[in-house]
Amino acid sequence: MKEQPVNIFWFRRDLRVSDNHGFYRALTSGKPVLPVFIFDTNILNDLEDNDSRVTFILRQVQKLQELFEKQGSSFWVYHGRPIDAFKLLTSELPIDTVYANQDYEPYAIARDNHVETFLSSAGARLKLLKDHIIFHEDDVLTGGGKPYTVFTPYSKKWKEKLAEADLQPFPSEKYLSNLLQIVPLKTYHHADLGFRHGSFTAPPLILDTTLMESYALKRDFPASEGTSRIGVHLRFGTVSIRLVTALALKHSESFLNELIWRNFYIDILWHFPHVVSGAFKPAYDRIQWINSEKDFSRWCEGMTGYPIVDAGMRQLNETGYMHNRVRMITASFLCKHLLIDWRWGEAYFAEKLLDFELASNNGGWQWAAGSGCDAVPYFRIFNPILQMEKFDPDKEFVNKWVPEYGTSRYPRPVVDLDLARERALKAYKEALADV
Ligand code: FAD
Repeated sequence: MKEQPVNIFWFRRDLRVSDNHGFYRALTSGKPVLPVFIFDTNILNDLEDNDSRVTFILRQVQKLQELFEKQGSSFWVYHGRPIDAFKLLTSELPIDTVYANQDYEPYAIARDNHVETFLSSAGARLKLLKDHIIFHEDDVLTGGGKPYTVFTPYSKKWKEKLAEADLQPFPSEKYLSNLLQIVPLKTYHHADLGFRHGSFTAPPLILDTTLMESYALKRDFPASEGTSRIGVHLRFGTVSIRLVTALALKHSESFLNELIWRNFYIDILWHFPHVVSGAFKPAYDRIQWINSEKDFSRWCEGMTGYPIVDAGMRQLNETGYMHNRVRMITASFLCKHLLIDWRWGEAYFAEKLLDFELASNNGGWQWAAGSGCDAVPYFRIFNPILQMEKFDPDKEFVNKWVPEYGTSRYPRPVVDLDLARERALKAYKEALADV
């Protein structure tokens, strides 16, 4: 490769060329840019070898590589630890600055600190940009300068702060001619990573403004397909949050609020990283969970004998997706009726969900368990039968995923709802006795 100084753009959870803030900054920096992606073995080593998210990422990386090659450049892809990738890169190229978009998860923060220290020892810099969310870090604080821990005032402040500039696109796609000109590099396939093709198919990216307009009416009914299915695209950055937010602002307040929940949970994770392993409200860590392995297996398999719970779990197992209303019901059922530690359920969702995002998953689980920052009160326990009657009145969703429902092949209920409710209330009351 050449001797002139180059900049790097390190793609991570932002696998797109258009309206990509960090990529735009790199491409307009005045130096040629080498695009880099790292299949991070610190992450991949913990996944099943048929993880569908790896398939999704591989496909995006291949698409980007094809695009860069059309520009006379290529994608520098590495399989291993990020630090080793940068050791190799700095030994091969005179690197000035590595640009990347900021990631707010504890592992990513530690990784970036490590890489930054190494780069500065090698005479280069790491520059992180805000791309994944509209507001980050201390952008949205209370009047007293503290992070919000309740959603409604957070969202009010978020909306007050929002200015046109926050939604301005960064036209990175217009500057691809500034990529470093090189011969095509190796293209990665599943086998190179020790993976097989995953079995779940990610939904295509469709930004449907008609859907947004009926979202408030339909979003709670799992059979109606009234939600966007863009979670996986926001997770891996195959769509710009600025673009989606601008559409929501125009077409649906209710959809906008859900995007703000996403921003809220990412901010909570950033300000309160202890939520990764413990309850946001520490008293909830005193709950005496029953943690029955047998009940947990029945929940995972969708064999609890409660149809809406089972339908949701089977939808998850068969597609890598579960409707939001049903995520709330299945999560509540696990923590309250089965009195199983929410972290077991959180880990199961993390393994299966195509749109798995640490902040929203953790936030959703702590909400359901009552231990979260702005959670459902512990004594409000969803009744899965009433939830089904309200949100799946014609049993369309249940019949689709639990075809044997109503026959003798359908399992008997794993617990009696009234007894399980009393048991949960007792366990929570004991844990919170002196709060
Ligand atoms: P839509 O309803 O179309 O919403 C559009 C986007 O808004 C979503 O893609 C998502 O980015 C965001 N959003 C919507 N609802 C929420 C919410 N309640 N909290 C945060 N962001 C939201 N979402 C994830 O992205 N990843 C997860 O791992 C995740 N785990 C969850 C676990 C539990 C127990 C619960 C109750 C919720 C979880 N959610 C998670 C939130 C929500 O269920 C999903 O974002 C949503 O179902 C994804 O489907 P969709 O793309 O059709 O969403």
